Amino acid sequence: MNVLSIIDSDLTGHSAMSMQTKDLAKYGKLSDFLKTHTKQTHYTFQVKKCTESDCFVCNLCPPRLPADVFETMAFLPDPTLDISREHYKEFAEVYGCCTSEEDRPSLKAPNEKNETDKKRRSLLVAGKVRMAISCALCLKPRCVYSQCKLKREEEGAVRRLKSSKVYTCGNNLFEEGGRYHDTIVARVAVNCTSPVEATYYSSTLVSFPACCFHCGTVDNLLGPEDPTIATLRQQYAVVRPICLECFNDGKAPKTWGAQNMRKKRKV
Ligand SMILES: [Zn+2]
Ligand SMILES: [Zn+2]
Ligand SMILES: [Zn+2]
Repeated sequence: MNVLSIIDSDLTGHSAMSMQTKDLAKYGKLSDFLKTHTKQTHYTFQVKKCTESDCFVCNLCPPRLPADVFETMAFLPDPTLDISREHYKEFAEVYGCCTSEEDRPSLKAPNEKNETDKKRRSLLVAGKVRMAISCALCLKPRCVYSQCKLKREEEGAVRRLKSSKVYTCGNNLFEEGGRYHDTIVARVAVNCTSPVEATYYSSTLVSFPACCFHCGTVDNLLGPEDPTIATLRQQYAVVRPICLECFNDGKAPKTWGAQNMRKKRKV
């Protein structure tokens, strides 16, 4: 029996595989189940059984822990800063508390990070982009910069880093004190909410596939034939790619360099 159909009889294995967030509204029972049994955050997806007597899912397979222990089980808390705003609270202090995602590390872009990028200003330019690496969390591509062309072993080090999928936005590519820490770098004053860097699109040494400015996907990009894009292209020197999902979400295509319309009309 399809386990998913226990949660929502409208759901098949096939529809679940091709489902996107926007389709969730069509499945009322699944939505309710997610609301009452799961916690979804940027870092985790947690599922916990309930003890409601009329729950059609948990009744099939009730909690096996003794009731008094089960009752003390809570969802894992979110990282929460203490009053100094410099350290995170101990796990025990926040376990069982209602926490939010606002302190999550990947949302932080502290000033010292700006300082690091400032120091590397001459390196973080389109002409020094050598490769791109995807963030393991938001999947957006971030540029890899180096003063000189990467040697074979340096390229190998970046490739290994890419395949290990540990890089996330705002972190250094290589550990402090390590061989490549200051020579092969990514911008650090970014987090997972930052859009794709301008240098990704204007890189002169390597050309990357077009990707959505907002979310980094290479799929379902609006083409030049799209009426909105076509109009913007007449008005602006640069119109960054945008995917259908971001566009439907109400995000505006990123434009740059307004053309002088008056001048244009005269010509
Ligand atoms: Zn339940
Ligand atoms: Zn990211
Ligand atoms: Zn997008």
